[in-house]
Amino acid sequence: VPERMPTQPSVPRLFGTDGVRRVVGEELTPWFVSEFACSLAHLLQGEGPVLVGWDFRTSSASIARLLSGSLSMCGLDAVEVGQLPTPCFQFNVKTLRARLGTMVTASHNPTPFNGIKVTGPEGLEIPREDEEVVERAMAEKTFPKVPWNRVGTVRADPGAIDRYLASIRANVDVAAIAHAAPRVVLDCGNGTSAVTSPRLLRELGTRLTTLNANADGYFPGHPSEPTDENLADLKATVVAVGAALGVAHDGDSDRVAFVDEKGRYVPGEETLALFAKWMLGKHPGATIATSITSSSVVSDVVRESGGKLSVSRSGSLPVARSAIETGAVFAGEENGGYYWPTHQVARDGPMSSAKMLELLVETGRPLSELLAELPKYHVIKRKIELPPVYKAPVMDAVRAELGREAEKTIAIDGVKAFFSDGWILVRPSGTEPICRIFAEAKDRSTAERLNRTGVTLVQDQLRALQAAIPTVGAGARAVPAS
Ligand code: MG
Repeated sequence: VPERMPTQPSVPRLFGTDGVRRVVGEELTPWFVSEFACSLAHLLQGEGPVLVGWDFRTSSASIARLLSGSLSMCGLDAVEVGQLPTPCFQFNVKTLRARLGTMVTASHNPTPFNGIKVTGPEGLEIPREDEEVVERAMAEKTFPKVPWNRVGTVRADPGAIDRYLASIRANVDVAAIAHAAPRVVLDCGNGTSAVTSPRLLRELGTRLTTLNANADGYFPGHPSEPTDENLADLKATVVAVGAALGVAHDGDSDRVAFVDEKGRYVPGEETLALFAKWMLGKHPGATIATSITSSSVVSDVVRESGGKLSVSRSGSLPVARSAIETGAVFAGEENGGYYWPTHQVARDGPMSSAKMLELLVETGRPLSELLAELPKYHVIKRKIELPPVYKAPVMDAVRAELGREAEKTIAIDGVKAFFSDGWILVRPSGTEPICRIFAEAKDRSTAERLNRTGVTLVQDQLRALQAAIPTVGAGARAVPAS
């Protein structure tokens, strides 16, 4: 029987790792949105407006207007910056010295979902303590009452995209890219990059072909997660037109995926390592920030390049905070989220596409060649069901077991265990009833063996606990992780 018995929180959790995500018309209703906006008023101090931005999902404009109206009736001035990518929104929150930002988006989630990302005044996601303030206000329905003569204003600001693209251009070598005029294929995936990236890449002087460059909340081109399988058209088009690079973004464009000139999908860990190596070449001895999920290819490259590596918990905010604290010149995770601190310390897909062009033009070599020089590892990712009530005791047991067996463990976010031939990361989800198990090694069979070890370890502990406290019937079954 576990020492820590599961407890139910008294206030329901609304925020996941990237804001609030709900199914429209089920949980995401007009009254939910309105109460959420009024609850945000509890967070707000100081001067400045609240920015409201939104993506192209079918309900996004409606949700944005509910947010603006509710915020103004709570006495705040709402500024609507329109339909744009999340990084463009975050850039504007910081630049316009807003006291808060609310961005309506469900990023890469399936079409029935929508969501709200909340950005603090420094342009980063709000911390967990602030989310708890909002959750408590929602649960207790403690909303401000503001008289008629204290109601705030609602106005539109059409300049957000111009300001953002100007900052990207100021932070890349536009003349060098324009001189080389590389051929590029951009797949907007019917998402928000449709309003920034065709224009950005043309202004940089590329010869551009676009795919799915019409924003559309039905995502008719392909699902909005830029995975290898979803980018078949992009890969084929890059080869067909003889492009140097293929670029794709997720629905709200905070992330990017690349395709090399041979039409190969580039895994995020390779892009991360390539960017890190390039930046350390320009800034010898500098710091690169990444998270616990990143591949050994990143630590190898940083070590070989004489740089320092800062490793944080996984997630957009922990990586951003670590990048700020360490003064990192570049940061990123294997999921395609990369940070360029001279522009802004937030995951930025369009900025990353401009930086990849600068890298290619500067090195003057094909992307496939540059990637071939990186150390090779095999990563295997799986997820298994892990009911929330068993998470804490299972992880206690897994930590203890891996602590005994491994050469070294890091337990800042789940547990990452290093062995002589590779590593295992066991990481329960904070928002879903699953546990992710990643393993990496120099060869595929070792990675497979390590991953199986992790899966078996979690399943054995879960079975033992279910026998001791059989409160939840769900079994554990391994499936490939997304
Ligand atoms: Mg996203």
